[in-house]
Amino acid sequence: MTKQRLTILGATGSIGASTLDVVGRHPDRFEVVALTGHRRLDVLEAQCRRHRPRYAVVGDAADARHLATSLSGVGTEVLAGPQALEHVASLPEVDAVMAAIVGAAGLPPTLAAVRSGKRILLANKEALVMAGAVFMAEVARCGATLLPIDSEHNAVFQSLPFGFDGNLRSSGVRKILLTASGGPFRTTPIDRLAEVSPDQACAHPNWVMGRKISVDSATMMNKGLEVIEARWLFNAAPEQIEVVIHPQSIIHSLVQYVDGSVVAELGNPDMRTPIAHALAYPERIDSGVASLDLFEVLQLNFERPDLHRFPCLALAYRALAAGGSAPAVLNAANEVAVSAFLDGTLPFLRIADVISASLDGVPSRPVADLEAVLAADADGRAAARQVVERFTKSR
Ligand code: NDP
Ligand code: MG
Repeated sequence: MTKQRLTILGATGSIGASTLDVVGRHPDRFEVVALTGHRRLDVLEAQCRRHRPRYAVVGDAADARHLATSLSGVGTEVLAGPQALEHVASLPEVDAVMAAIVGAAGLPPTLAAVRSGKRILLANKEALVMAGAVFMAEVARCGATLLPIDSEHNAVFQSLPFGFDGNLRSSGVRKILLTASGGPFRTTPIDRLAEVSPDQACAHPNWVMGRKISVDSATMMNKGLEVIEARWLFNAAPEQIEVVIHPQSIIHSLVQYVDGSVVAELGNPDMRTPIAHALAYPERIDSGVASLDLFEVLQLNFERPDLHRFPCLALAYRALAAGGSAPAVLNAANEVAVSAFLDGTLPFLRIADVISASLDGVPSRPVADLEAVLAADADGRAAARQVVERFTKSR
């Protein structure tokens, strides 16, 4: 069997580690060509020793020198910075790229992989939220293959007809139902949310994830971003996407067909399942995840999301309706607000206020290329920083 050669962007993170776990189970199938991290050099060093990639990429030149010294003899060349990320995402010897950098920083290297016609395993939802139209046009133009890693979108992909051509109507689809756990604060009295700490927000009941997406799950902005992600991945109109709270995270999402059928993907909540699915697609491989034991699950519950408790979800629908630069502004403002919350400078309930004020402050404009997307991102960040500063002063 010819091995699939991989670049893993964001290898040192939660998705990166799960990817390497699956890859490590199948040495006959996969070969790691490049691994990238940013600040966690010790993790990257251990990964390089284990998987012996040709390249490793870190955030800056000083860190690259450090890592190169510790890796002497391993045979890994250490590079640094955003250009190096794009370089390893588009190497001719690479077949597939796992896009698992968190946030807007993941867009340029993921787009570089798209432009080199790679098979893209997309975890970095922010890239699609920011640049949906531009991104999908490049996927089509460059003949890249896009496979969703986000558990909901991977479930939808598995529940759509094989070879889905981007037309929901002719495929008989009425609606896509995205499930959401509701995060750690689903039942917390709303008046107590003002005081919640970053560690409380990051303590997700079902999934172990990086800190940014954990906060996004607590505000449900994660689901908002996923609605926009679904819009682009499946060419869905906003009214064809519905969010259902399902606290057990066993049903990872569903597709409703016009004949009354509802097709879903179920499993234990472990990201190695969608990762293994996309790595081997259209084949199936062992992911290390145990099969679902229905006698242990016992109950599957569903609730309608409460937009009063989760205003970020409504903000995402608002940005999707506004279109153009609005989703990029939404994403940028969310990143600024979440990082201020994680730093302890912004109260939890202010996250939505920062995003809402930023959307007000940067009117939507058309975006035709990456430059326009990055300009919207910069404007969204600037607007959000001003609002954060105002809230911090008025505390
Ligand atoms: P983590 O925070 O665990 O990992 C993020 C990765 O990105 C790390 O490798 C980190 O490097 C790297 N990184 C951070 N900032 C930069 C930067 N400026 N330039 C280059 N690399 C950078 O996040 P997750 O793994 O949880 O999430 C990754 C992506 O996958 C996100 O977009 C998230 O929304 C998505 N996702 C995650 C899921 C999950 O279960 N975790 C589920 C569905 C989607 P370092 O740590 O070395 O600093
Ligand atoms: Mg998800």
